[in-house]
Amino acid sequence: IRVGVPKETAPGERRVALVPGVLRQLGKLGVEVLMEKGAGIESGFDDADYEGVTIVDSADQLYAQADVTMKVQPPSVEEAGKLKEGTVLLGFLAPHEGDDRIKKLCERKISSFSMELVPRISRAQSIDALSSQASIAGYKAVLLAATLTGRFFPMLTTAAGTVRPAKVLVIGAGVAGLQAIATARRLGAIVEAYDVRSATKEQCESLGAKFVDTGVKAEGEGGYARELTKEEQAQQAKVLADHIANSDAVITTAAIPGRAAPKIIDKATVERMKRGAVIIDLAAETGGNCEVTKPGEEVDHQGVIVYGPRNVPSSVAVHASEMYARNLYNLLTLLVQEGELNLNWEDQVIKDSCLTHDGEVKHEPTRSRLE
Ligand code: NAD
Repeated sequence: IRVGVPKETAPGERRVALVPGVLRQLGKLGVEVLMEKGAGIESGFDDADYEGVTIVDSADQLYAQADVTMKVQPPSVEEAGKLKEGTVLLGFLAPHEGDDRIKKLCERKISSFSMELVPRISRAQSIDALSSQASIAGYKAVLLAATLTGRFFPMLTTAAGTVRPAKVLVIGAGVAGLQAIATARRLGAIVEAYDVRSATKEQCESLGAKFVDTGVKAEGEGGYARELTKEEQAQQAKVLADHIANSDAVITTAAIPGRAAPKIIDKATVERMKRGAVIIDLAAETGGNCEVTKPGEEVDHQGVIVYGPRNVPSSVAVHASEMYARNLYNLLTLLVQEGELNLNWEDQVIKDSCLTHDGEVKHEPTRSRLE
């Protein structure tokens, strides 16, 4: 079979679904690889770096030939319409939105597998692109905070006086939050962290953060959090407000799968922060954890900088692509045997991550929404 990798077309997307480092392994799978000209350039890879890969001039040529298309961002409706009928598509497919695209995938009888739907079981860890990309976002969020603040993060003792370390608060200690804690600690900050899942306390502490206990516990299904009640929200906000007001930088990552991001920091709390303090809101794309956040914008709210960056992993394109390409390759190994496609529906990873197949939407919540 032929595996095809187009150049990403979504604005601002610098990542690519294939890096030279996985070509040898792909070769062992017995597949032929096609790539669109220049697909890797923004991630730091020239066409010539992809040894043994057939480079094609246009996306149209690629879509017309690929039996498996590997992408980063969901295809546009137009791109989905160009996929060869009955073929396989792998990538972030945003199952919670883009109904026209999903209908188009059905119409083309595409077997599409969405990285967002890969089950978070031990066996699928190497395929878990939400985690690999979240960890990049957590790292970068701290660097953004460090750049936007007028303060040092580490403690410094110099002839010109002593600088106290910055205080960083991380709200939401999932994959991104834990990487944010580790990164802020490496820069020498004093770190506090908070999450509604009690299991995270030990994880935060093992990375050197002090856990903030609000008394609110909200474990949901499958290791995720559930939405808070009004009372719980109020209690959480009350305890967190003092910690937020005392912080030089706050990184927020709180999310509930398939829902809008929980609002955790209101305007009044932002106004209690000191001038020059920074909030990096990693939940901006799903509405933001802070009331002041404007997705993609750097807002100066009474001297406090609130920045909700979009598509953070793309800004670390080299390593984000390397990790993502490995996630995709690992998924592909479950779909291909001896150079041929073999979709084993008994396999939980294949079954759960399938969005569309044979003209039908296979993901239950998406199917009910479309009906
Ligand atoms: P996520 O991006 O959905 O959410 C980020 C964090 O926000 C979570 O830790 C969540 O508890 C927290 N949160 C939600 N509402 C909150 C609120 N009101 N206040 C504070 N925090 C709030 O989560 P994620 O980072 O993708 O993953 C979280 C869970 O999934 C963890 O248990 C993680 O260990 C687990 N996981 C398991 C595997 C695996 O076993 N293969 C892989 C990845 C993640």
